[in-house]
Amino acid sequence: MQLNFSGLRALVTGAGKGIGRDTVKALHASGAKVVAVTRTSADLVSLAKECPGIEPVCVDLGDWEATEKALGGIGPVDLLVNNAAVALMQPFLEVTKEVFDRSFKVNLRSVLQVSQIVARDMISRGVPGSIVNVSSMVAYVTYPNLTTYSSTKGAMTMLTKAMAMELGPHKIRVNSVNPTVVLTDMGKKVSENPDYAKKFKERHPLRKFAEVEDVVNSILFLLSDSSASTSGSGILVDAGYLAS
Ligand code: NDP
Repeated sequence: MQLNFSGLRALVTGAGKGIGRDTVKALHASGAKVVAVTRTSADLVSLAKECPGIEPVCVDLGDWEATEKALGGIGPVDLLVNNAAVALMQPFLEVTKEVFDRSFKVNLRSVLQVSQIVARDMISRGVPGSIVNVSSMVAYVTYPNLTTYSSTKGAMTMLTKAMAMELGPHKIRVNSVNPTVVLTDMGKKVSENPDYAKKFKERHPLRKFAEVEDVVNSILFLLSDSSASTSGSGILVDAGYLAS
């Protein structure tokens, strides 16, 4: 997707791998200055080689204090992509406190925290902004072993709406993208049983999963002025799954 983000500064969380990494590359190629935030420093080193000039930040977003220290003074950001997440799978009866708490800290609480930091700065500068929360179609339907993960994404639907409502008067738009399986490291783990993956894929009207590029294109659209009147909404990137 050809969009021009020159003169804007973007922050992408979960920038080391998968969807976040390709979002950084696309924003960088479209002229944005990019702050790339993730947990594994080797990923940032290789990403900085591919995208000279990006600003790498290595932090565990599940740690509130460390995140405040790393991002509290990050400065002006115009575009925010809350993408970092973990998919920790357990059957409902075996869900542990540790997995539940860790999942909500990384997948949801960090979205609140990073968005607060960024939105406060946008408001103090009096500039418009766009925030995209990377959610999932499991915000709306769930599957075995995804109790905790899908609960974090279901809650993200309401967090997105609440942010859109309170930040809208400041000309800050907030939306989500909701993909089906994407065969990143996370997606491969979630669909590692080949029989299940094949049957699951066939249940999609388009008979396929989503590509990273499909998700990135929707993120860029929601970040851009092409979606200037869209807020509190979500784009399904689900190969038609929820229509069936
Ligand atoms: P990956 O696991 O491939 O990448 C996730 C990235 O987030 C990694 O760079 C990871 O770093 C980083 N990350 C995870 N936890 C933290 C943390 N605590 N602090 C900082 N960074 C962290 O996932 P995807 O690219 O597949 O997923 C991206 C988004 O898309 C997620 O929100 C996910 O829920 C959503 N999604 C994915 C789907 C899929 O099938 N792949 C389907 C629907 C939605 P590290 O590896 O170092 O931990």
